[in-house]
Amino acid sequence: METVIVKITENDIENRKKIEAAGALLRQGELAAFPTETVYGLGADALNPQASQKIYEAKGRPSDNPLIVHISKIEDLEKITKRVPENARKLAERFWPGPLTMIFEKNELVPLETTGGLQTVAVRMPDHPTALSLIQAGGGFIAAPSANTSGKPSPTRAEHVALDLQGRIPMILDGGPVGIGIESTILDVTETVPVILRPGSITKEMIREVIGEVRMDPGLAKEDTQIPPKAPGMKYKHYAPKAELILVAGVQEKVQERINDLVREGTEAGKKVGVIGTDESCGKYLQGIVKSIGTRTDERTIARHLYGILREFDDLKVDIIYSESFSAPGIGQAVMNRLLKAAGHQVIEV
Ligand code: AMP
Ligand code: MG
Repeated sequence: METVIVKITENDIENRKKIEAAGALLRQGELAAFPTETVYGLGADALNPQASQKIYEAKGRPSDNPLIVHISKIEDLEKITKRVPENARKLAERFWPGPLTMIFEKNELVPLETTGGLQTVAVRMPDHPTALSLIQAGGGFIAAPSANTSGKPSPTRAEHVALDLQGRIPMILDGGPVGIGIESTILDVTETVPVILRPGSITKEMIREVIGEVRMDPGLAKEDTQIPPKAPGMKYKHYAPKAELILVAGVQEKVQERINDLVREGTEAGKKVGVIGTDESCGKYLQGIVKSIGTRTDERTIARHLYGILREFDDLKVDIIYSESFSAPGIGQAVMNRLLKAAGHQVIEV
């Protein structure tokens, strides 16, 4: 299959035509990748079971890992769910369009192929003009997981999508690099006290301000605990680069010292070693391939570059990557959640 890559420009009228063409593909049960504010999504008509099935095939995604349904208007939420709890209504008003996904009881319109066999459905309204108009053009309910091969870092640019899915999908809408860079926060609102199943840039504190009590899924804490995470996708080794990734945590100066030692040892042993530092620390590393992930004065820059940097190290074919750690408050918690998963929870405390 030939994959057409379509650039989305500033020209609204030209874009309208391109988006109508992509929307027509979706209505016919085909796939199209598109930008959102979090990462690139791989879209299909969420109410068409055969279309959803194609997503799993193109990504090599395990069939028990449900898809998020994307909508373009808050009112559409009622059309695919049994009940919208009061908490969810308040959160939708506050954070939609935006990087918050909520889990509801599904109604009969939503096929089990889309929900990985579950009676619940994940729904989000993305904050991106191309995504919103494509969802509308495609019928209003678009399943769209990250547009990567399952297990690879999520795509934050159209080039990443092409590298993973070229030849497997008919169209990629290229809207340039995304703004946030990590996937949405997932919140289960079917429980009396809503539960965060995946941390993202909408933090626990932001949710608490709107609805009061909220909990973290205990299954998120570590991969080897007895409690499985409630979002099926969180149990897979995900977000992973090809190289071994090890995090080093502790006081900054000690972390830098230890990383320098580790890089020297690795290099002497004939390994190609990568280092993930920040704008503030990169100058302190003496050896290895050193890359800055962003600045500690604005952790949003770190989220934005996380997946791109993992892919860059893959391209450079490094054997091992040592990374600094990031603090837990705010979006740092979501960054650490992804880094820990990418590292298989290998952390050296100094
Ligand atoms: P992705 O779209 O690739 O970011 O992955 C979607 C994530 O949402 C996966 O971790 C899924 O397991 C999770 N998810 C989707 N639907 C549900 C649901 N009904 N219940 C729990 N988790 C869900
Ligand atoms: Mg994904």
